[in-house]
Amino acid sequence: MTLQAVWQDASYERMRLPIQQVLAGEEVTFENELTAQDGQPRTLNVTYIPDVGLQGQVKGFFALTSDISDRKAIERMKDEFISVVSHELRTPLTSMHSALKILSTGRLGLLSQDGQQMLEIADENTERLVRLVNSVLDLQRIESGDVTMEKRLCDADGLIVQAIEAMQPMAQQQGVALVLSQPSALQIWADADYMLQALTNLLSNAIKFSQAGRQVSITVEAQSEQTLFCIRDQGPGIPAEKLESIFERFQQVDSSDARRKGGTGLGLTICREIIEQHGGHIWAESQLGQGSSFFFTVPPPPPGPGQPAGGSGGELLAGGQYGS
Ligand code: ADP
Repeated sequence: MTLQAVWQDASYERMRLPIQQVLAGEEVTFENELTAQDGQPRTLNVTYIPDVGLQGQVKGFFALTSDISDRKAIERMKDEFISVVSHELRTPLTSMHSALKILSTGRLGLLSQDGQQMLEIADENTERLVRLVNSVLDLQRIESGDVTMEKRLCDADGLIVQAIEAMQPMAQQQGVALVLSQPSALQIWADADYMLQALTNLLSNAIKFSQAGRQVSITVEAQSEQTLFCIRDQGPGIPAEKLESIFERFQQVDSSDARRKGGTGLGLTICREIIEQHGGHIWAESQLGQGSSFFFTVPPPPPGPGQPAGGSGGELLAGGQYGS
């Protein structure tokens, strides 16, 4: 019998691409869903390894399959647990934050200088917790696949201008100049809100790790098959062995970064999720002491897409320098 006849069409459809890949000589791993004989759905982790003959020709392939249903169930429980806990934390945290803000105005009585300092510490840390809870919830929502990216034709320059406008107050406070490259007039196929979130996360990191008087530049250019964005800073840089791991959740170059810079270690993980859900890639390049560059790609619009969306109404600020 052929594999197709054994598996029947619906199941075979999910294996068609991996089978093509393994027969082309590539080792491939994928997850597959099956209904077991007891009627229960099972999740399998499958690896196909090509069986290569002496002449280099592929004679067939080996299949290695493990049942990962229990692990998947535990992961789902863990995600649900995190989501419930984060939701439950958000409400009391928000009211603590408001109460502290009211206290700090002095309307309910003036505090001593020490008291005021204590209040600032409490306020800063509550804000950090709110950011952390919001990031955990954001990431959980994007990863769970509950949100779909509403992709439309967007004006790349417009998105960059919007991201720069959003981050301008932070840049000014840090004394960092935000520089936009020449207008590209490029259109990308993206969810404008999520793309803006990725851009502002990257800009916020670049500003956060830059000293006063330095520049952060943002460029976009067309490549043969895709559009390439780059956010470049003149900060301290990232060691080569950390360039991959910083995209993992809660990973920071220096464990004290979180304390000094008020980060959560989730920003880049969220960026990677957003970019990968757009079919693109994100990576970092850096030279210690010289600065870091964060690149991401977005694939081109499918043929015959709809109307432009997002951006700031196509209004471009030509080669603008948004400096402080
Ligand atoms: P965080 O909230 O800590 O910034 P991210 O996931 O956004 O979390 O970043 C993870 C870590 O990557 C940061 O804590 C920092 O150590 C490093 N990093 C990110 N961007 C930069 C940058 N532009 N320059 C130097 N280090 C960076």
